[in-house]
Amino acid sequence: MDSDLIPTQRPNLVFVFADQMRKHAVGFENGDPVVTPNLDRFAAEGVNLTHVVSTSPVCSPYRGMLFTGKYPHSNGVLVNVNSLTARRGIYLKDDQLCFSDILSEQGYAQGYIGKLHLHAPDPNPPYDYGQGPRDGGTVWDAWTPPGPARHGFDFWYSYGAADNHLAPHYWTNGGDAKSSRVDIDEWSVKHETDIAIRYIENTDERCRDPEKPFSLFVSYNPPHPPFDQVPEEYLKIYDGKSIAELLNRPNVRLEGEALEAAEHVHEYFAAVSGIDHQFGRILKALEKAGLSDNTIVVFTADHGEMMGSHGLMNKSVCYDESLRVPFLIRGPGLEPNRKDDLLMGTPDIYPTLFGLMGLSDTIPEECQGTDYSRLLRGGNGWRPMSSFYICLPSGATPSDGYDRRGVFTHRYTFAIECAGSEDPRMVLFDNIADPYQMRNLAKEDLDVSKKLMRELREWLRKTGDPWLTERADLLSDQVEKLSKE
Ligand code: CA
Repeated sequence: MDSDLIPTQRPNLVFVFADQMRKHAVGFENGDPVVTPNLDRFAAEGVNLTHVVSTSPVCSPYRGMLFTGKYPHSNGVLVNVNSLTARRGIYLKDDQLCFSDILSEQGYAQGYIGKLHLHAPDPNPPYDYGQGPRDGGTVWDAWTPPGPARHGFDFWYSYGAADNHLAPHYWTNGGDAKSSRVDIDEWSVKHETDIAIRYIENTDERCRDPEKPFSLFVSYNPPHPPFDQVPEEYLKIYDGKSIAELLNRPNVRLEGEALEAAEHVHEYFAAVSGIDHQFGRILKALEKAGLSDNTIVVFTADHGEMMGSHGLMNKSVCYDESLRVPFLIRGPGLEPNRKDDLLMGTPDIYPTLFGLMGLSDTIPEECQGTDYSRLLRGGNGWRPMSSFYICLPSGATPSDGYDRRGVFTHRYTFAIECAGSEDPRMVLFDNIADPYQMRNLAKEDLDVSKKLMRELREWLRKTGDPWLTERADLLSDQVEKLSKE
């Protein structure tokens, strides 16, 4: 324990995360040509973790890991939660010990604003609530009732999964699903920021007990689709820019589903600039309230977006555009303007934050993530040589869709992808020599493939992944096969 580094008063935590915002979509990265002055400034005020991955780059599994510090096979949130997958037991259970349950015990006031996407939807809602059924009757949105399902959050302004960015709805603290619902005629990011600022200002102590330290989570749904639901003021920023200027990554292939990228890239970047603007308002509110010095502030995203790279849209794949996310953190004890290439995965986030908050002792045994707070403060300590990647089939049945595992290192991305009866595909990218991941080296660099296969087995063992036994043949056969080719 770094007891000498712990402030006498516990720091507050403000954790802001966007949905589907890739690492490249911040101005200071010099990747996507986006305008993000607030994030650029913020990056210089704290630590920029340059090699953070979304361990399972889809909504609910990310959130499950963020909340529990456990990998999907340990927390049960294996794929996106909806009324079909909830029948298979896939949702965040009330008895899972979450970071917020612990913070509540530690005397924190806690607010959750925006998208949750962890609670099991009612397959037959008694009346039309939320976004209602979609995809042929599947219900995605969910009201999370007060009590254990809210895992210690005492200020609630949230919904499950609904993609109405310009007409969002929320469920608030009291009442039932009907009486506590509010419908808003405004861009969700702007509105959620207004609520976050209200929470920070806490005028008349309406939102929280001012005697307590607080933790505030703000979960924006944009730049997630539908891309076209974004205010005009942010679209204007990209007026007159050509598709080629905006989609500047050499791996973009505008074919098939990726044709959508040409249609939506202006909107995607507009949403990013809007998020930047609104995040800037949160920072100003903290400053104005005199809370900047004793508040840890994080900006990150649940996963990225392919936006035409490799002919793909969306996420879940192991390519950088899907896997890597921005992770910027500022706060007491953190040096400004520092970059760190720590290979942090999603389950490591909360134990690391707890370390920074002086709460290392409260991290439970069952948390599988690692507390890297000492490294974030610039100290020495153990560093992992890889990060785990897992993406399970998202369909209603376990065999429906891709089943993927891999590892991400400072140099390589290595993954095995299985789909139904198709032959498994093994990929290896040298991200230093080939930063756009255009060349699969799995067969050429067999020694590296073998080494990373061993690393992958270690992750499967550590995370209790059934692949270790169920797909044992596949794991050895792949390398065997390649050796003989
Ligand atoms: Ca998401």
